[in-house]
Amino acid sequence: MIRAWMAPALALICGVAACGPAAPPDPFRGEDRMAVDPVCSRRVDPARALQVRHAGAAFYFCSAECQDRFKADPAAFAPRP
Ligand SMILES: [Zn+2]
Repeated sequence: MIRAWMAPALALICGVAACGPAAPPDPFRGEDRMAVDPVCSRRVDPARALQVRHAGAAFYFCSAECQDRFKADPAAFAPRP
């Protein structure tokens, strides 16, 4: 139980800094297959996540709430080409 606090702490660090394009893929976790929810920045599994297509790209969401927020204003969340 000592490490119980580490998972959210690591996820927070990962979301802020450590998992950008320059970070090497982690061979133990297969997170290179994961997508990022553009609304809340959580990592989501594309095979199971909710999906919206916008401007020719697919976006994935952890929940219907995030999906609805994206659909209400895609330009606020979608990266600019
Ligand atoms: Zn989300």
